[in-house]
Amino acid sequence: MHLIIMGAPGSGKGTYAKVLKDIFAVPHISTGEMFRKAIKEGSELGKLAQSLIDKGNFVPDDITNKLVKQRLAEEDCKNGFLLDGYPRNLDQAKAFTEILKELNIELDAVINLNVDEDEIVKRIVNRRLCSNCGQGYNILTIPPKVEGICDLCNSPLYTRADDNEETVKTRLAVYNDQTKPLVEYYEALNKILQINSNQEIDLAINDIVKAVEDKCSR
Ligand code: ZN
Repeated sequence: MHLIIMGAPGSGKGTYAKVLKDIFAVPHISTGEMFRKAIKEGSELGKLAQSLIDKGNFVPDDITNKLVKQRLAEEDCKNGFLLDGYPRNLDQAKAFTEILKELNIELDAVINLNVDEDEIVKRIVNRRLCSNCGQGYNILTIPPKVEGICDLCNSPLYTRADDNEETVKTRLAVYNDQTKPLVEYYEALNKILQINSNQEIDLAINDIVKAVEDKCSR
């Protein structure tokens, strides 16, 4: 199964990806994971990406595209992948189409998570993270057993500095601006699966699995 998952900040993308990778038995590849892996393995591209990140710069598209190509050629991707956070703009999407051709891979589907803006704001402002192990919580939907304390390691929880209403709205505007052309691009290729992500996690997961299976049996 060769899949991309797309969704605004707070759409539940990361949470879904962790479940879906087991259901579809494919690696979950986020750009963060990809950069870290390349750097750990000491690849030249990895080192270049790290030096840019260290200087506070973005990693340019051509380096990201090359890293994706390297990563997807690895052994654990032979039965597929679930890409998360890539492509993030139209240029990357076009480059990715070429990469797939070169690797002789057919993309099965692009999962697009749709969430109402006020739902996203509600989710993000209620998000808490463990200061020690990084486990995520939501004080409304996934609260810790003891308020302000991580279930897993008993360390204090904190709120990320940019998890506030004002910043969320700016991040959403940037996301919408970059993503709309991507949705149109993949719609034209007949790859988009529109998923309602306003509902509970389990229900949305069911919808995704069903939509992917329908798409692949056609
Ligand atoms: Zn913890």
